[in-house]
Amino acid sequence: MPNKPSLSPVSTVIDASAGEMPRTRPSRAEAEAAVRTLIEWAGDDPDREGLLATPERVVRSYEEFFGGYEIDPEEILARTFEETEGYDDMVVLRGIRFESYCEHHMVPIIGIAHIAYLPRHRVVGISKLARVLEVFSKRLQIQEKMTAQIATTIDRVLRPQGVAVVIEGEHQCMTTRGVHRPGVNMVTSQMIGVFRENEATRKEFLSIIGRRSD
Ligand SMILES: [Zn+2]
Repeated sequence: MPNKPSLSPVSTVIDASAGEMPRTRPSRAEAEAAVRTLIEWAGDDPDREGLLATPERVVRSYEEFFGGYEIDPEEILARTFEETEGYDDMVVLRGIRFESYCEHHMVPIIGIAHIAYLPRHRVVGISKLARVLEVFSKRLQIQEKMTAQIATTIDRVLRPQGVAVVIEGEHQCMTTRGVHRPGVNMVTSQMIGVFRENEATRKEFLSIIGRRSD
């Protein structure tokens, strides 16, 4: 199965969130047939010209939307650097856009994430933090779980003094259906180590990302 070029595949399907064994997947033809069923169920004719190639396109889109199941996020963080010339202050990656999918309605959650850690000896290439976000976002998610997964993965692999993750997401299951409330952002945060224990550190982080801390 093709992956986005920026993400290197691993050989088995890994869902670290569920802690389950890899499952056998339905075939591509079965997936396309399921999309055809949904088109018919919606009330349209899957054999009309405009929809003929839609099941194939949808399945290809799903490969992109859900490419995060193929990647082990811990592997992304495995290569670290220890020669930091004594740098021991906060590293913050601010305002990273993400697109994820609500696991209850399978519609997009679009937003931005801020990720910070306070190193203890080891640092990681900054783009790797964004890739960890990307891997967890390209799965069926709830925002709370995604926030915690990113923070605990960074904490587990880098063993820093602390990790902070703040995510602001707009949920299309709220804006395009149900209560129809556009412009509402959900904010979740997970603070680990010094970011949780030390108010000054937490405040510094929140001010860097432009959020009030009170
Ligand atoms: Zn939803």
